[in-house]
Amino acid sequence: MASTDARGGTDADPREAFRALPSVDEALRRPALAELGEGRDRDFMLRLVRERIEAWRREILDGQLDAAGVVEGLAAGRLEAEVIDALRREDSKGIQRVINATGVVLHTGLGRAPVHSEVAQAMARAAGGYCLLEVDRASGQRNQRDARLGELLARLTGAEDGICVNNNAAAVLITLQTFARGGEAVVSRGELVEIGGSFRVPDVMTRAGVQLVEVGTTNRTRIADYRAAVNERTGILLKVHRSNFRVVGFTEETGGDEIGALGRELGVATANDLGSGLLELAGARPLDMLGGEPLVKQAVADGVDVVMFSGDKLLGGPQAGLIVGKRKVVQQIRKNPTYRAMRCDKATIAGLEKTLELYLAGRADEIPSRAMMLASAEELRPRADGLANQLADIEGLDVQVVADRSQPGSGSAPDVYLDTYVVSLAAKKLSTTAFASALRDGDPCVFARIQDDRLLFDPRTLLPGEDDELTAAIRAAL
Ligand SMILES: *Cc1c(COP(=O)(O)O)cnc(C)c1O
Repeated sequence: MASTDARGGTDADPREAFRALPSVDEALRRPALAELGEGRDRDFMLRLVRERIEAWRREILDGQLDAAGVVEGLAAGRLEAEVIDALRREDSKGIQRVINATGVVLHTGLGRAPVHSEVAQAMARAAGGYCLLEVDRASGQRNQRDARLGELLARLTGAEDGICVNNNAAAVLITLQTFARGGEAVVSRGELVEIGGSFRVPDVMTRAGVQLVEVGTTNRTRIADYRAAVNERTGILLKVHRSNFRVVGFTEETGGDEIGALGRELGVATANDLGSGLLELAGARPLDMLGGEPLVKQAVADGVDVVMFSGDKLLGGPQAGLIVGKRKVVQQIRKNPTYRAMRCDKATIAGLEKTLELYLAGRADEIPSRAMMLASAEELRPRADGLANQLADIEGLDVQVVADRSQPGSGSAPDVYLDTYVVSLAAKKLSTTAFASALRDGDPCVFARIQDDRLLFDPRTLLPGEDDELTAAIRAAL
């Protein structure tokens, strides 16, 4: 739109071009922008329009745009198009829905576990209205917000009671603080883990005001090592599940049963941080492909005082940290003033209750993340074939269905892969990174896996009904 002589930036008089630019107010009165601005924050619209006009001014100064170019651009609706584009970019920020075709089931970046639709409904109902949060229905008296949750947890895990806090990191923090603040916590050197998102056991100790006492070696820790470390300052013996790595070879790990027994003998609190924590029940298919993730029930039966695990890892519920154990010990944690700062909101508690009710009703396998882990390669193949068929007619797109492996994700079972079939795409005209970026930028946003300069789409992590939307998004991106 700039005339060729203006491009040189020497002959044209920029003042004329500046005069052709609308003021911000004039621009906002242009019909398309006035309509766009309806129902939107006026200051924000002003800022967007001002930014666009500033960009045109820079083009004029750089000699890229002359008066005729401005007039032409305005007539062609270029300013409106730019503002719409800026608005679209703005509206696509924040928490937006994503189609997860990566095959990583508990994808931390994409929100870990998608909850069951009935759980999502229960959460929305609690959030959108009043609910029985801290009132007892029969007496009208005040009660605890997670009293019912505690009962459900007790039934499912064999513990006496349970409570929830915002996440498992908080569960570990408050447990340490309750039992060992100003004192010492004994942990095996082989269990000083760092979990994604900077959860480091030694740092959590410091934050809890607890002095860490490391015992044993990286590969071997025996109960005698714990015993030798206990003194009058010891507040807790903590066991931590090595969620995201394995120690193999010449190894020895002390079980929760021995640690629990030692704690009882010496009068010291004991805790087991399971990380994921698996609930397995009669009627639900076991997730044994995860290669022995510890079971919450077993950890409780081992006899430690409290067991901690995440609500949104293998459990498949909303983000939370669950603490189960002896009633007296759980009460002590509840009375810790820090609990007030870590307790869950009504929507989370409603979601957790509903998730646990699904387990108790024998419907655990309907929970999306569990169903995804349980899907076999044979079950996934027809879905991959179906996706590939829908894409077969696109010119310049190489479509293959290949055997591949999905991952549980979220630091659970790091060495476990789940056999799957993926749709593998390569576009002639588009680089793989540009293709992936166009998919992320689309509506809905799509995440796939990049491997060997191809994009892989794993049906394992697609929710029911997302297959058609995915192929439409792929078409749009191309
Ligand atoms: C994941 C994990 C945590 C942290 O749990 P969040 O729910 O992410 O806060 C703590 N400990 C272990 C062993 C874990 O695997």
